Amino acid sequence: MNTIFEDSVPGRGAHIVEGDPEAVGKTIPESLRRSAPADLPQCSELDVVRHFTRLSRRNFSVDANFYPLGSCTMKYNPKFAEHVASLPGFLGLHPHLAELPGFGAWVQGALSCLFDTERYLCEITGMDAFTLQPMAGANGEFTGVSLMAAYHRSLGRRRTIMLIPDSAHGTNPASAALAGFDVLDVPSEGGLVDPEAVARILSERGEDVAGLMMTCPNTLGLMETHLPAIVEELRKADALLYYDGANMNAILGKMRVGDAGFDVVHLNLHKTFGTPHGGGGPGSGPVGVTARLAPLLPGPRVVKGNDGVYALEEIPGSIGPVAPFHGSFGVILKALAYIMRLGGEGLVRVAEYATLNANYLKKRLETVLDVPYGDLCAHEFVASAPEGLHALDIAKALLDRGIHAPTIYFPLIVKECLMAEPTETESKQTLDEYVDALADIVDRAGKDPAFLPAAPTTLPVSRPDETTAARHLRLTLDMA
Ligand SMILES: *Cc1c(COP(=O)(O)O)cnc(C)c1O
Repeated sequence: MNTIFEDSVPGRGAHIVEGDPEAVGKTIPESLRRSAPADLPQCSELDVVRHFTRLSRRNFSVDANFYPLGSCTMKYNPKFAEHVASLPGFLGLHPHLAELPGFGAWVQGALSCLFDTERYLCEITGMDAFTLQPMAGANGEFTGVSLMAAYHRSLGRRRTIMLIPDSAHGTNPASAALAGFDVLDVPSEGGLVDPEAVARILSERGEDVAGLMMTCPNTLGLMETHLPAIVEELRKADALLYYDGANMNAILGKMRVGDAGFDVVHLNLHKTFGTPHGGGGPGSGPVGVTARLAPLLPGPRVVKGNDGVYALEEIPGSIGPVAPFHGSFGVILKALAYIMRLGGEGLVRVAEYATLNANYLKKRLETVLDVPYGDLCAHEFVASAPEGLHALDIAKALLDRGIHAPTIYFPLIVKECLMAEPTETESKQTLDEYVDALADIVDRAGKDPAFLPAAPTTLPVSRPDETTAARHLRLTLDMA
C-alpha cells in the first residue's frame, strides 16, 4: 500500500508526500466505491471568481464603508495586526502542545505573548491580574460577575443582588442573571448614575448586594462624574465595583480603572484593541481583577519561572475555566501587536482623537438632530431623530449613501435614539460627509413624506423582517 501521509510534524499538520490516486482508490473495498463519476457542475475559474467578487461587493464592510455605530463599534482594524496573527509559527500551533510533556520549547513564544498581553492589560487598567480566556464581552461579564459571587462566597456570605444602571448595555443584566443574581435597576439622573439612588438601595439591601456594574464613560458617552461618591458607598457596604470596559477608547492612557476604585473589569479586545466587532466573531473579553480576587481567576494561568521559562499553572481556588485553552489566541495576538505598535504615547493619542472626533461630530450634528445630553462627550454620544421622524428610517436612508447604519434604539432611555462613535481613525472629511448625508436625508424627509419609508432603494434587499429571518433561516437566495 502507498504511504500518503507522513507522520505529522508537531505543530505543522500532516502533508501528502507521495501516492498514486488510482492505486489508493483500489484500497477502498469494492462495495464502498462509486459506480459513476460525481455529477458536479463545471465552471470556469473566472466565472467562479467573478461570482464571488460580485457577492462580496454586495456586503457592507469596514474596508469599504464608514461605520458610525456607537457602543459596539467597528473600531480600528489595522492590517499589520492581521499579519502578526497569521504568522505560520502561531497558526500552526496545536493548543494541546502546551501541556504535552517534552514540548515546552515549542510553545515558549506563544506563552510569552499571553504573559506579555496580560502584563500590558494590567498596566493599562491598573488591575493586578488578568485572565485572557473569555471569548467575548458577555463571556467576560459572566466571568467577572461569577468572580464577584465567588469572592463573597469565600468570605462565607451569599450576596444575591447585582445593581445595574438603566443606561447599561443589555448584556450586563443578562450576564448577572445567568450567574444567578437578581438584577436591580439603578435609575439615572441627567444621564448619570445617581449616587443618592445607590446609597438608598444600599441602606435598605446592602447586605444582599454583591456589587454594581458600571460603564464609564457610559453608553450615553458621558463620564460618570459621581464615581468617587459611588465607590465610597459601595466600599461601606463591602460590595464590589465592576467596570464594563468593552469600549475603552476614551480613557486609554488617561485613567486606570483600578486606581478609580473598580475591582473587576472586562475589555473587548475585539472593539478597542485591533480586531473589529461584528460578523459573528471571534471575540475576546479578558477580565482583570485586583489582588483580592486574583486567587479565584480561571485557570490554568501562564507563569514565568526565575529561569525565564514560561509554564502553565493551575490555580487551586479558581472558579474553573470559562473557555477552552487560552481563549481567542489570534485576537489576543492582534491586541498585543496593536499595544506594542502604539506604545504608551500612541494609546494616549487614541483616547484624545477618539474624544476629539466624537465631540466634533456631536457639535456639527446638533444642527441636524436633537442631541439631548451634555456639553462634551467622551468617545460616543446619543442623538434623537427630529420630531416626527424615526431613527430606523434614517438609518435605512444612510445605507443608500454607502454609510452603515448607526446604532439605533440603544440605550433604551433615549427616544428614537441614534448613537454614533466615529472612532479615532476616521478623517474629518469622512465625518463631514456623514453630517452632510444626515442633513440631506432630514431635509428631503421634510419635503417628501414618502422618501424615508421607501429607503433603502439601492440595496439587494430592502427591509427584511429580521425576526422572521432569524427564526426561519433560509440560507439560499434566488439571485435571479
Ligand atoms: C459590546 C459591548 C458588550 C458585549 O460585548 P460582546 O463581545 O458583544 O459580548 C458589553 N458592554 C458594552 C458597553 C458593549 O459595548
